[in-house]
Amino acid sequence: MTGPRPTDGWAGTEIVSERVDLDPELERRLIPSDLLHEICRHALDVAPEECCGLIMGNETERLLRVVRVTNIMTKMHVSDSEAFPRDARHAYYMSEIEYLRAIEEAAAREESVSAIYHSHFGQGCYLSPDDLAFASHPLFPFPRADQIVVSLLADRVSEVGVFEPIETAAGRFRGRRLEAAS
Ligand SMILES: [Zn+2]
Repeated sequence: MTGPRPTDGWAGTEIVSERVDLDPELERRLIPSDLLHEICRHALDVAPEECCGLIMGNETERLLRVVRVTNIMTKMHVSDSEAFPRDARHAYYMSEIEYLRAIEEAAAREESVSAIYHSHFGQGCYLSPDDLAFASHPLFPFPRADQIVVSLLADRVSEVGVFEPIETAAGRFRGRRLEAAS
């Protein structure tokens, strides 16, 4: 997401190269339906590019509010295709200006980032090796946030999952289905 790419050789950083799929044995997690609707809407609005954004929460409500952030990966790719081999159809890079502003505004409301989300267009619901590399990078700004992935297949939302950091194993996640609370 920010900072150097996985190929830069991060000293002392464990590189997790396996992708993480949803674990069918884990119980699904519920999210307020308006929030789920908003992140799915965002994914559909920008398809075939990937969407990305933040979910703010506070002490009482972990998932309170969705903040869309612009995926500027195509811009990064055009300016340096070696460092950024993929464009916004296959990767995301959150606009730093936007997410820093969002964090500032959230802090003023006593909220913080509890989850980040992005979409996969024409791909399943998992954390890719790139997603994991971003998430475990020392400069990644939201190491304790849950990661939500919206999978779009055939221009429809096929599945939404939440990948939760495993507290005892830095850089590792477990994934479960995310569904609307009724
Ligand atoms: Zn991804």
